[in-house]
Amino acid sequence: MASPLEIVTVPCLSDNYAYILRDKASGKVAVVDAPDAKAISKALDKRGWGLDWILITHHHGDHVDGVPKLKSRYGCKCVGAKKDEGRLPKLKVALNEGDKWKLGETRLRVIDVSGHTVNHIAYYCKKAGVVFTGDSLFAIGCGRVFEGTHLMMWESLSKLAALPPETEAYFGHEYTLANAKFALTADPENAALAERAKEVEAMRAKGEFTTPTTIGLELATNPFLRAAEASVQKAMGMEGADPAAVFGEVRRRKDVF
Ligand code: ZN
Ligand code: FE
Repeated sequence: MASPLEIVTVPCLSDNYAYILRDKASGKVAVVDAPDAKAISKALDKRGWGLDWILITHHHGDHVDGVPKLKSRYGCKCVGAKKDEGRLPKLKVALNEGDKWKLGETRLRVIDVSGHTVNHIAYYCKKAGVVFTGDSLFAIGCGRVFEGTHLMMWESLSKLAALPPETEAYFGHEYTLANAKFALTADPENAALAERAKEVEAMRAKGEFTTPTTIGLELATNPFLRAAEASVQKAMGMEGADPAAVFGEVRRRKDVF
């Protein structure tokens, strides 16, 4: 089945990604996060598209700083987490975990992925088989836990890990090469990871984006999703420990890597 969405990846600032979504049936256009109004406008203009909505994942400046300029240029409106309304740009649509919202004819569902920030949300489109994870899940990594707890982040990542393995995950930063280097220390016996690390190195050498990844690929190679696996537990010196605790140890090590 053809995807109901057209998706355009827009590199912004030094390592951020914004994603333009166009609902093919209605022609409605949204952008997931607004790191840089200029880069997003350029991508829209090139295609002759307007902008109806900005879907915000979380409140950090590198995800919302482009909102005012995009609003004044396109008259678009914001969608975001209801529980974070106090510190997000003004929302036209405020959503909670599990809420559904339609871009034209295409339904998206909100997944609360708190941890990097509390009330960080991801947008999942089952029909298109895609999820926009912001700074929760990255390729071979995850966001730093600034506001939540390690347990909270583990639970959030576990929700993403439970999506169909073929789901494409579009993430907020191109950190994949650095993530791979750390991951090799956290899961040193993982052959799939070793192979992927080489691929990532080749892709980045050519300037290619590593987004999107897939949930299946992350389950096989991302040490933050693999805290229940014997190989990662062994590398952490925590065989048989609670996966959430192992996740916490992997995250702590990455913080000082
Ligand atoms: Zn962030
Ligand atoms: Fe960010």
